[in-house]
Amino acid sequence: MTTNPVPFHLLPDNASVGSQGQLIIAGCDTLELADEFGTPLFVYDEDHLRHRCREAVAVFGTHATYASKAFLCRAMARLVHEEGMAIDVATGGELSVALAAGVPAADIHLHGNNKSTAELRHAIEVGVGRIMVDSFDEMDRIEQLVAEGLPAPKINLRVTPGVKAETHEFIATGQDDSKFGFTVSTGVAARAVERGQASNAMELVGIHAHIGSQVFEVASFGQALRKLAEFANPLGLPELVIGGGLGVAYVEGEEAPSISQWAAKLKATAADYGITAELGIEPGRSIAAAAAITLYTVGTIKKLDGIRTYVAVDGGMSDNPRPVLYGSGYESFLARDVLGRRTASARVVGKHCESGDILVREAAIASDLVVGDVLAMPVTGAYGHSMGSNYNKVLRPPVVFCRDGDARLVVRRETYDDLLVTDLG
Ligand code: PLP
Repeated sequence: MTTNPVPFHLLPDNASVGSQGQLIIAGCDTLELADEFGTPLFVYDEDHLRHRCREAVAVFGTHATYASKAFLCRAMARLVHEEGMAIDVATGGELSVALAAGVPAADIHLHGNNKSTAELRHAIEVGVGRIMVDSFDEMDRIEQLVAEGLPAPKINLRVTPGVKAETHEFIATGQDDSKFGFTVSTGVAARAVERGQASNAMELVGIHAHIGSQVFEVASFGQALRKLAEFANPLGLPELVIGGGLGVAYVEGEEAPSISQWAAKLKATAADYGITAELGIEPGRSIAAAAAITLYTVGTIKKLDGIRTYVAVDGGMSDNPRPVLYGSGYESFLARDVLGRRTASARVVGKHCESGDILVREAAIASDLVVGDVLAMPVTGAYGHSMGSNYNKVLRPPVVFCRDGDARLVVRRETYDDLLVTDLG
């Protein structure tokens, strides 16, 4: 196992080392942030987020859409909108937050494999820019709503191109055996196109596919584009969306293409396959993941002789369920000693009542780590806060955006009163 300091490329763009060796994010001392806001705490580098959005917009313009499931709060929705990206929402809840942030409905795209009539009604009433239609049942619902007097929405059809992306099976979505979309290989997608074009209740303007998440192989996107070109080029529709899915490095030894590299490759490959439709992308993870770190406080250290050491922190699977869901790896290090070698090993665990509540299975840690230390975990900006829960009635952590030495609290910590807001007693 490594004894190296945390690899610096895993930290947010504007991470630096303070005069005492401590971690600074965008000019903010993380030890002071932990004191001021408490832990666990999500700390985002705002300019990192903005630069990733700009990379996507530089290549795809208004056809660059942020997948808000990765991380969403009003400040994030506003930031993304200010940077010129549209927003993809997958539920009525995400739609409400994006609208509450002031994002114009026309810049919001509604996704989801099982949109309810209420969600569709809301989306059409406010005038979302696109509905990514996922099933014939959904077409029935849209036709019903339009028959009741709502305007016909612009739609893309979500298809599965029959590409198995190299990623965890739970986040692979482009293969034929999928709950998402219309299958291309069996002719179902072609039937959906016929129905969409024949219907007066929807205006079919494009085809959409998303092959999966945490995909490092740009070649997988190339395969998808090839299959999509075969299917969509003859249709002559104006839009083709290739989804998100670009992987990010989480641990030492991992490297991922940048958004600029990925985007340029997609554009070039699409041209090679004769795609003339406007190509769109929907990055989520690659915008938000490496922009944030989570700060935890170490509460308990148990050295089990001949077995292992457990380092327990004040959060866990409720603020980062990815290790439990996918066996995902993370790094951790002392916020007071960014450049310190990590010569000891331990399992970093949370405070939940599950043995599976693991944050880092085999962690390299500093040998002088003690109770009370602030432990930093990088690359937690995507699918952490957004997948968080109140399991064990743990309070969801706050979020701060740091920029030029200012820390702005954009989501406050939950309180015990919040836990009772929906509880009618
Ligand atoms: N677009 C769609 C339709 C998705 O389902 C997802 C993720 O599930 C994304 C975009 C974003 O993927 P990622 O965060 O991997 O970029």
